[in-house]
Amino acid sequence: MDLLEKISSLAKRRGFIYPGSEIYGGLAGFYDYGPLGTELKFNIKQSWWRDVVQLRDDVVGVSSAIIMNPKVWEASGHVGGFSDLLVECKKCHERFKADDFEGVCSSCGGRELTEPRKFNTMFKTFVGPAEDSASTAYLRPETAGGIFVNFKNIIDTMRVKIPFGVAQIGKAFRNEINPKDFVFRTREFEQMEVEYFVKPGDDEKAFKDWVKNRLNWYEGIGLKNVKPREQSPEERAHYSKATVDIEYKFPFGMQEIEGVANRGDFDLKAHEKGSGKDLKYFDEEAKEKYLPYVIEPSAGVERIMLALLCEAYTEEKERVVLKLHPTLAPYKVAVFPLLANKPKLVGLARKICEDLKKDFVVAWDERGNIGKRYYSQDEIGTPFCVTVDFDSLEQGDVTVRDRDSTKQERIKIADLKTYFQEKIS
Ligand SMILES: [Zn+2]
Repeated sequence: MDLLEKISSLAKRRGFIYPGSEIYGGLAGFYDYGPLGTELKFNIKQSWWRDVVQLRDDVVGVSSAIIMNPKVWEASGHVGGFSDLLVECKKCHERFKADDFEGVCSSCGGRELTEPRKFNTMFKTFVGPAEDSASTAYLRPETAGGIFVNFKNIIDTMRVKIPFGVAQIGKAFRNEINPKDFVFRTREFEQMEVEYFVKPGDDEKAFKDWVKNRLNWYEGIGLKNVKPREQSPEERAHYSKATVDIEYKFPFGMQEIEGVANRGDFDLKAHEKGSGKDLKYFDEEAKEKYLPYVIEPSAGVERIMLALLCEAYTEEKERVVLKLHPTLAPYKVAVFPLLANKPKLVGLARKICEDLKKDFVVAWDERGNIGKRYYSQDEIGTPFCVTVDFDSLEQGDVTVRDRDSTKQERIKIADLKTYFQEKIS
């Protein structure tokens, strides 16, 4: 098994990631997140939100509708231009993204293809009871649109001054021709995006600052195999002044987990034209009115999750350990009674478990022997295990075992909260 297979197998077996609608044979490009995957995703999003919104004075959040007026996507260019080139195998009619085709059809071995044609990757739906072109709408292909259409609302209702940013986390949808590489390229995914509005001329410094901030965040969550890569002028979108891809070394190669782009005034200009509303900003200090430039850091939650799983997956002699950063681990602590059939041990362990739950996400396990419980927690990345034994009843302390070093120490029950608070931050 290669690393990606090992990780997807662990993800399935331990409740991180399931194939979507599995009992009906699945649906390509869609995944469901199990109990532990849901916790991990939540922790990633929370860490990001804290870093880019709550710890800053200059960024506010927004949460916009997934289905928006289709004019939003006409103005942004998505209706006209958000397409991939599609080719079809002449023999078996399998379809491929033209960029991905490697000379031979992977289904039948055929070599003859149709001419490439454009395929819009936005999902269409209908709003209201009529299924006609007038009621056509789209599932958003990115969360950024919901930020731009609320630019005026935020200026009018919040005391924000340029430079400031608006952040959003949410689902986005793209009808990818070939979803692939597990949860790396899927048709439904979550994005974490910021649109940071600056005075034209201040954009280059803000761009550099955002690239640096984002790299620091990745370092902070323990992702080491991350590298920034500047897109060449040929690669980047025509309106973009500069784009840096933040790439991670996946088992299938260096791939983008986030893009930071200097988009100039392309978006606000397009929405000003599309909506007919004045989206210019009046700068009180400079006494001038202008259309701000925007810096956009845009990250994929599932891509970061997959990168974290790849980075954390470690095989040691007789155990598999997910060395996730403690703040991201689904459970922070697991609590065990040494023996499941001794009511006094179980009672004390239960009490410790309930107390710790007030401050941490805690797992309970009383199956099998202690060794098996350790390995089971190692495999899902739980940083600490607490064992309540007979000495605990007499001396008021417990054994705390560290996931990475496997070292054990005795800690007073009364000190557990402070002990974990210091370790998990
Ligand atoms: Zn074929």
